[in-house]
Amino acid sequence: MSNDIPSEVPPDAEAPAECLSCLKPAELCVCDGVTPIDNRIALLVLQHPQEQDKTLGTARLAALHFTRSDMRIGLSWPSLAKALGRPADPRRWAVLYLGSAKAADLAPGAEVVALDAKGAALADQATALAHLDGVIVLDGTWSQAKALWWRNAWLLKCQRVILGPKRPSRYGRVRTEPRSDSLSTIEAAGLLLGRLEGRPEIAETLDATFQRMLDAFRAARAGQSRPPRPDRRFRPQGRGRGRRRPPPSV
Ligand SMILES: [Zn+2]
Repeated sequence: MSNDIPSEVPPDAEAPAECLSCLKPAELCVCDGVTPIDNRIALLVLQHPQEQDKTLGTARLAALHFTRSDMRIGLSWPSLAKALGRPADPRRWAVLYLGSAKAADLAPGAEVVALDAKGAALADQATALAHLDGVIVLDGTWSQAKALWWRNAWLLKCQRVILGPKRPSRYGRVRTEPRSDSLSTIEAAGLLLGRLEGRPEIAETLDATFQRMLDAFRAARAGQSRPPRPDRRFRPQGRGRGRRRPPPSV
């Protein structure tokens, strides 16, 4: 091998342009409409390395919605602090892990349910869900989430929660969910943080973004995609972590 390998691989002329924020193809990027929400409870998304679905995945898009959010790709981390890259007390964090539990069975009508170590609903839900510093969402298929759960023993120190969504995922027939209470990562993050912070508009905002992404997907699939952007990799206009604008009406 010679030493004159370019430091950057030249773009493949056949590959579609990709957004630098959401890493989606240009025709599926909806970052333009995303304004980071000033969240009190932090979000940490742990993504299984095999889940990186650039077409229909929503983990990165979910994280882009919050000023306090982190996304990590991997299988295991020694501790919550290592995963976050800063000090953190796992007892003040919740982790969303459905497992075999179903909110509809354990606490009918509740959208967020805190479980004990045996998977039963805690008697005092309000106390269990108060004073949380952050929430962890596992991004991947059913078996990938299970792998993340079992490979990170420190997750057992966190408050396990499950969701009881009032309606099924917007994925609909685009991507079949294994259970009626399975949501996309962006829907789950919105519902969880919206409920925990008492701000239903958070869930509405993330749901609206997800709907725009699905609309773009359907339009692209139908061959009605927007004209390609001139740059192969681009940053969407008008958004950035430092900007503060009122959330778009939904
Ligand atoms: Zn984007």
